[in-house]
Amino acid sequence: MTTIAANLQTVRSRISTACTAAGRDVTEVTLLAVSKTFPADAVRAAHAAGATEFGENYIQEAVEKQALLTDLPLTWHCIGPIQSNKTRLVAEHFAWAQSVDRLKIAQRLNEQRPADLPPLSVCIQVNIDGGPGKSGVLPQEALALAREIAQLPRLHLRGLMTIPEPVADFAAQVAVHRRARALFDQLRGAGLALDTLSLGMSADLEAAIQAGSTMVRVGTAIFGGRAAKVA
Ligand SMILES: *Cc1c(COP(=O)(O)O)cnc(C)c1O
Repeated sequence: MTTIAANLQTVRSRISTACTAAGRDVTEVTLLAVSKTFPADAVRAAHAAGATEFGENYIQEAVEKQALLTDLPLTWHCIGPIQSNKTRLVAEHFAWAQSVDRLKIAQRLNEQRPADLPPLSVCIQVNIDGGPGKSGVLPQEALALAREIAQLPRLHLRGLMTIPEPVADFAAQVAVHRRARALFDQLRGAGLALDTLSLGMSADLEAAIQAGSTMVRVGTAIFGGRAAKVA
């Protein structure tokens, strides 16, 4: 078994244990394999071990990698910052954009989504813990943005995504993820048909699942450590 296959098995068992602890069914949680900075061959190994959903942060890097993997039935999620000049690449090359935090970006994605593709699935990124200089709308702005995005015909608003500041304590991790869960419930209560709560990464997926995450985004625990990104 490759290291990636063994790591995937470990991550799946962590998800399964966390679901049991939370009284949830394991089918409620999708595993997104975050392959940023890793080569196409690593994606290939993860696919061979059963992964089908992949997350990428750097749009240009992702598009180049995807070109080497067109023989595989993979679903690609953009989870990194989306600048205006990158919206066309996202609209044309991804199934999901999880990091939408401005109406202008949503409108461009809506205009640029090719007619032969299904609507682009979108999550609103929320700055749930008020982390400084971070992407994401403030929680109190999420409902208004969600209502605007829900009107755009070439987008399919799916839910919320957060990247909280890392904290070591499990209870503190659960508490911050519960804030996202409460916001998600509030938006659904307001009539928005959302089905995706993208919370949790390698270090806090158990807490995220405890709080109600439906999608965990896992990089390091599958692919190993990443070299620091040189800007
Ligand atoms: C890198 C990244 C992940 C994965 O983080 P790990 O700690 O390596 O699991 C998840 N979500 C986003 C938005 C990321 O940028």
